[in-house]
Amino acid sequence: MKPLVVANWKMNPTSLRAAEALARRIAVGLGNVSGVEVAIAPPFPYLAVVGRVTRQRTVLAAQDAWAGASGAYTGAVSPLMLRDLGVRYVILGHSERRRFLGEDDGLINRKVKAALVARLIPIIAIGEEHRESQAVTPPVLAQQLARALDGIPRRRLRAIVIAYEPVWAISTTPGARPDSPDNATRRALYIRKLLVKLLGPSVADTIRVIYGGSATAKNASSFLATDIRGMEGLLIGGASLNAEECITIVQSIRKKVRGDKS
Ligand code: PEP
Repeated sequence: MKPLVVANWKMNPTSLRAAEALARRIAVGLGNVSGVEVAIAPPFPYLAVVGRVTRQRTVLAAQDAWAGASGAYTGAVSPLMLRDLGVRYVILGHSERRRFLGEDDGLINRKVKAALVARLIPIIAIGEEHRESQAVTPPVLAQQLARALDGIPRRRLRAIVIAYEPVWAISTTPGARPDSPDNATRRALYIRKLLVKLLGPSVADTIRVIYGGSATAKNASSFLATDIRGMEGLLIGGASLNAEECITIVQSIRKKVRGDKS
């Protein structure tokens, strides 16, 4: 399956001009990227301009979407509006929204349902708060996953994306450090097992599991396994705000999946 790299700009940059310039630098640097799908997730006000300057080279992702299509929800953004803008993916359940905005599993589940109705592809972020012994599988992973997918017919979940993002590894967490590639692979296999149990093998097979947490140009390709179905992409926060680093990350992943030693 084609690896997916998602550039999550979070609440950056703070001007339209800077967002346009960053998107343009990334798109030009990537050229006609093949073998890796690249999605840029800018803040809502920049989606249109990022879509325009990146054209076919990257696809658009939103950082969130509301749990309903329209109505009296001041400040919220409907998944239908995003779809209409040409957005393909939507990140849901990011730990920053869980922590700063109090989003819980129930709301995330409703958002996943609304995104699917609008034909957006949810990228569902799950991850434990604290780094524990790597021999222990945090129970919160199974819980967050099952709750996010609760009550959704299996067939609708084809081709969604699960992002394993241990909160302790996210670069803005004090003392953050990236997960080890071995542990990330173990987690990917565990999440895949959960998906098989929840959705059956044929739907689970269509789902990409990706890793997020302090990924940089130096370590990016080490998270992807090519011999087994481990991590099949990355969600990049901080490093995606630097066009050169973002491009190097994508190139290193492309090389890895092609088995290119050059
Ligand atoms: C994120 O917040 O989704 C993330 C992966 O951030 P960073 O790459 O900066 O750790």
